[in-house]
Amino acid sequence: MTGGGIRFRTVKRVLNFIDGQFRPPCSGRYLPNVNPATGQVISETADSGPEDVDAAVSAASRAFESWKKTPAEERSRLLLKVAGLIEENFDELARLESEDNGKPISLARRMDVPRAVLNFRFFATAILHAETPSHMTDDRALNYTLRQPLGVAGLISPWNLPLYLLTWKIAPAIAAGNCCVAKPSELTPLTADRLAALIADAGVPPGVVNIVHGTGAAAGRALTSHPKVPLISFTGGTKTGADVMTHAGPLFKKVSLELGGKNPNVVFADADLDQAIATSIQSSFANQGEICLCGSRLFVERKIYGEFVDRFVEATKKLRIGDPQEASTEVGALVSEPHLRKVEGYVALAKEEGGEILTGGNRPGNLPERVRDGYFLEPTVIAGLDCNRRVMQEEIFGPVVTVTPFDSPEDAIAYANSTRYGLSASVWTRDLQKAHRVAAAIDSGTVWVNTWLLRDLRVPFGGMKESGVGREGGFGSLEFFTEAKNICVKL
Ligand code: NAD
Repeated sequence: MTGGGIRFRTVKRVLNFIDGQFRPPCSGRYLPNVNPATGQVISETADSGPEDVDAAVSAASRAFESWKKTPAEERSRLLLKVAGLIEENFDELARLESEDNGKPISLARRMDVPRAVLNFRFFATAILHAETPSHMTDDRALNYTLRQPLGVAGLISPWNLPLYLLTWKIAPAIAAGNCCVAKPSELTPLTADRLAALIADAGVPPGVVNIVHGTGAAAGRALTSHPKVPLISFTGGTKTGADVMTHAGPLFKKVSLELGGKNPNVVFADADLDQAIATSIQSSFANQGEICLCGSRLFVERKIYGEFVDRFVEATKKLRIGDPQEASTEVGALVSEPHLRKVEGYVALAKEEGGEILTGGNRPGNLPERVRDGYFLEPTVIAGLDCNRRVMQEEIFGPVVTVTPFDSPEDAIAYANSTRYGLSASVWTRDLQKAHRVAAAIDSGTVWVNTWLLRDLRVPFGGMKESGVGREGGFGSLEFFTEAKNICVKL
């Protein structure tokens, strides 16, 4: 609607979800939420602060009194109901995720939404199978260990896999009997908002799940420094993780940190090259390279380096960049303009550091009209950099991969381990012994052999070095979200 030269447009307001109700932020302020594929503001997000977080923590504390006593079977039933509702709203959630983040809708349909369903189903059923250990002290005493929820869990998640990672935290937290206050990324609030409504529809009691939107500096920090939140599960950047520790540490909170990565992808000459190339294209550029597990440093045995790089560059050039809402699009938009500039800055730095851009590095020129103002970057392959260069050391988190030759397994291991990160790695070889040896020597929480991103939710997940602290996944998540209490009975 236009009038007198002023343009009025109403967009949806994303409110906080506290005590089962949608509430505006105490500040009355909102943050613009931009669709990165179009550059248009598509909604406004509550700009919350400590008062909102405090209200959410109070609601969660009240709800905890009865939720912790709710039988596991009933908690399981409610979580399964949420999973079912996510499935029923599959198309809408996939569309929202794509609009909010810029990711191809095909990826949201294949990965983000199915995984959100699975997260709820997995922990809903896991709690029905949990065991409590007991220890006999000869014939003198019986010890048994209770695992009890802690109270209010603070859950902070990033923008790259918004619903996937939010549900990876909410599901185990509440399955284990905690209540929670979640703070999604301010860049991608839409699926969290929709999830809140589905949680209410499922009949999860008010206050068990609360969602507070806003910036990390205001809402996030209010959560990490809140005295009545004994546990923080954080996924995000390494620098932010340090700030989380700074605030949560003095309060002795239980903290799990899932942080950044600079993951190596090691290809030996005896690998199945067709598979290695096809999967390395995925591991380099899926979700525009904005997955913490993306392999951003490719190391290729010198004997096949030339052939591998030629074929890899060829396949990179064929990737379809375009409107994320189109089913055929393979590479969408980066999440925001500042992030695009940051990634472009690394391409410029690679040139300064002596790197050669084998393909990409530019904003694509032939985008469809609807997405012409979006934050797109061509998938980029860079060669010729030493491992100690900044481009090879710092997390870029975009569609940018470096390629480097190596001569021996020892070199490959040294190159792989040459950063401060240690989240994940891939190794490609047909030699089983070499695979085991190299996998054991690489410093990272996960090593894939002849595959990438194959996830079994039962296995421990997390990072070494500056990629994180602690492990989540399977019963590991349920252990993190509970406190062990040993009871010793004299016989
Ligand atoms: P980020 O660290 O900027 O933000 C993550 C979340 O923390 C957001 O909700 C943000 O609002 C909040 N936040 C920011 N500052 C805060 C503070 N001082 N206190 C409390 N909360 C604060 O990360 P991002 O840019 O949203 O996400 C990208 C990063 O996440 C990358 O480094 C990526 O590798 C990492 N990541 C890691 C994993 C993993 O499993 N290890 C998974 C996905 C993403």
